[in-house]
Amino acid sequence: MTFLKEEVEHFVHPPIGGTYTVATQTHTFDIEAVRGDFPLIMREALRKPPLSYLDNAASTQKPQTVIDALSNFYSQDYANIHRGVHFLSQRATDLYDKARETVRRFLNARESAECIFLRGATEGVNLVANCYAKPLLCRPGANIVITTMEHHADIVPWQLAMEDTGAQLRVVPIDGRGVLDEEAFEKLVDENTVIVGLSYVSNVLGTVNPAERLIAAAHAKGVPVLLDAAQAAPHVALDVQQLGCDLLVISGHKIYGPTGIGILYGRREILEKMPPWQGGGDMILHVSFAGTTYKGIPDRFEAGTPHIAGAMGIAAAMNYIERIGIGAIAAHEHELLEYANAAVTDIAQLRVIGTAPGKAGVLSFVIDGVHPHDIGTFLDADGVAIRAGHHCAEPLMKHLGLPGTARASFGMYNTFEEIDRFAASIRKIVKFFL
Ligand code: PMP
Repeated sequence: MTFLKEEVEHFVHPPIGGTYTVATQTHTFDIEAVRGDFPLIMREALRKPPLSYLDNAASTQKPQTVIDALSNFYSQDYANIHRGVHFLSQRATDLYDKARETVRRFLNARESAECIFLRGATEGVNLVANCYAKPLLCRPGANIVITTMEHHADIVPWQLAMEDTGAQLRVVPIDGRGVLDEEAFEKLVDENTVIVGLSYVSNVLGTVNPAERLIAAAHAKGVPVLLDAAQAAPHVALDVQQLGCDLLVISGHKIYGPTGIGILYGRREILEKMPPWQGGGDMILHVSFAGTTYKGIPDRFEAGTPHIAGAMGIAAAMNYIERIGIGAIAAHEHELLEYANAAVTDIAQLRVIGTAPGKAGVLSFVIDGVHPHDIGTFLDADGVAIRAGHHCAEPLMKHLGLPGTARASFGMYNTFEEIDRFAASIRKIVKFFL
């Protein structure tokens, strides 16, 4: 199956199988070629039943170029960075710096020093909560604003930072479709708000929040925003300057890159105010028993030997996404979502959770009378991998009055045939249980 799609900023959705309306430049999206880049997808497509990997919001499979980046680094270029005067160490350091420059380009940051390599989105929020919110912002009467749809990674670090400081958490409500209440946002962010934690794309509902507008509204009140872009990065072009965001986190493994590596982006002015995260090698200028002075950004926040190969891997993943085209990927996933919605729409017992307009490729659902875990187990027997549970968003589940949902989430390599198999399996579940 090969079909053309146009890479566009704002595409108009065509009938399934149709062509995409051109808004800007064009891009060829060849689904067979894309699938061919992912060894696990190709291998598992041959098993019986073939694998339909629809758990991309949890983590994505890796293209060969990412696997090669890790393997080549270890087999050809490996040494520790920043430490050696020898050739290999210097080359590894150059490659690490180059990877950071790729990250800068991917996020359109002003300078690569604003991009910190960390373990992932979770560590990024924890760093900001610990080094910014806790020591510099939280005080009695202060508040931190988040939303009902946040992942635990954008809730718990703030709670830890606020402990014993007298600061409080404020939560912006959502409507029945999973759309954020912007009026409430404007009211809840006030002169005592010290920071906003906002997910760009919800991992449960697929809602794409109007990040640029919300950030501008927070800035109008002098409040900085941390954007949790963990789920946005695989689907939406990220431009930190256009978004105006102060801080942003992403994880490598959700953008077809390795686990254990992610990025905290921060505006220089903010990062420079923050004390170090962890102490150790590589983040210091001078150490004596009497005291220590620290390097500037980004080294100050990268104590110890980092995940150097992971940096190669995340840079390769970013290059790969840029090569395929994020607009083409988003358009393809949007088609898959529409197709999946249409495939289950006549199943009366199935309720889709999260129907925000323009949502990303995430289909959360419940089937009345069947526990989400049973849905997941049943689908697995048919070779369909989805996620079931609270998706690390327990407060959202409480708000929805659900113990959990089943969630199919789409990536660039998914096909309509995989969704057909998903829908056929759902129909079997309904017949079997109800
Ligand atoms: N935020 C969101 C919206 C997520 O979906 C996730 C991962 N499920 C995270 C943060 C945390 O990412 P990680 O586990 O890679 O640190």
